[in-house]
Amino acid sequence: MKSVIGFLLLLVSASAFAQSPADALIAHELQSSRAYETLSHLTDDIGARLSGSKGAAYAVTWATQQFREWEIPVSNEPVKVPHWVRGREEAQLVSPAHHQLVLTAIGGSVATPAAGITADVIEVDSFDDLKTLGAAKLRGKIVFYNNPMDMDLVRAHRAFEAYRIAVAFRGAGASRAAEFGAKAIVIRSVGSASLRTPHTGALHYDPKQPRIPAGAMTAEDAMLVHRLLARGKRVRMHMVLTPRTLPDVMSANVIAEIRGSEKPEEIVLIGAHLDSWDLATGAIDDGSGVAMVMETMRLLKEMNLRPRRTIRAVLYMNEENGLRGGQQYAKDHGKEKHIAAIETDAGGAAPTGFTTTLKGDALAALESRTKPLAAVSSNHFEVAEETGADTGPLTAAGVPGFGLVPEPLHYFDYHHTNADTLDKVDPKELAQDSAAVAALAWILAE
Ligand SMILES: [Zn+2]
Repeated sequence: MKSVIGFLLLLVSASAFAQSPADALIAHELQSSRAYETLSHLTDDIGARLSGSKGAAYAVTWATQQFREWEIPVSNEPVKVPHWVRGREEAQLVSPAHHQLVLTAIGGSVATPAAGITADVIEVDSFDDLKTLGAAKLRGKIVFYNNPMDMDLVRAHRAFEAYRIAVAFRGAGASRAAEFGAKAIVIRSVGSASLRTPHTGALHYDPKQPRIPAGAMTAEDAMLVHRLLARGKRVRMHMVLTPRTLPDVMSANVIAEIRGSEKPEEIVLIGAHLDSWDLATGAIDDGSGVAMVMETMRLLKEMNLRPRRTIRAVLYMNEENGLRGGQQYAKDHGKEKHIAAIETDAGGAAPTGFTTTLKGDALAALESRTKPLAAVSSNHFEVAEETGADTGPLTAAGVPGFGLVPEPLHYFDYHHTNADTLDKVDPKELAQDSAAVAALAWILAE
């Protein structure tokens, strides 16, 4: 018996000696993560962080202070951001029966006249439908885009693909309908679940078309309108939206770094966006990503691990409705030597791996060194064209991109709705994510 225990002890100590810094980072993070504490503060104490808002400004100050407390060099780099403010948002069906609807303005929407708009609702499910109906049928109407997310894709863990398809109508629907004289648009909220939770997000107005108001009603309300229209009823809607676009505001990206010991001019970037939509506190989008990035830096500092290359953390401002932070970073730093750009902007559920723009031999070479990631189920790389919105300009210029992929099954149940709150994040899963980001950053920086 004694010899068996002795043998086991020997094995344990041998494996402890064999532990690489990446293994140690993961083990330490899983034991003593403070990522959830960081996320709690960002969401519960600071709140919503739409660019230009007080919450966004406070988040910049707080994150900067936090890095300073951890004794990690940090700076703020100015970014000019849009300042859009949501106003009243009300909608009812006035015919064939009275129904109060739950609707939210799509980010960037213009207001309705003060008294609101009352008009017939015409349903479409594609841009081709607009052409078929033409201006004769659409002029003066409220165009209703009824495009549910493809739940087969969501259940196949390809929720981001389903999102990209459905979101086209939120982004371009207003201008496409305005081309045919529509007065306003409403879309079916983009999302994979609904308890009458409307889903916001950005739109893009085509400068050649008149700007018309745009709202998103809940899936339940969209189904009601669809049923009434399918039964041949004339559906009339009244809606009031009073959002305003105020002058641009000066804000900042928060940038912290741990300088490399051998090749400080070579940079491994890790980033997430500090802003959120205004309907909730952005716990999954992208408070979780911010917490992982801050935690990676805290962990490296706490463990006194100095990488060969520089690990630089960027908390981007204004991903949601402008991407100005990512663009500004690329403008100011694009000429520096970035070895890799890791972005985490896909929630805080358990990690499953990373997307990457690396291919072929380069990817195989990296994979031979990422075995420690298996401890948090993240040693899986899927080749993708895009690995993140804020790092898009860098990866387009050839910097290898990486995007953390937390399990996406429930991400779009809450994303951009008033249900994106701290309770949706599991502290253990967030620690696993943080460990995955920290270990990959370390491996790339070595
Ligand atoms: Zn996001």
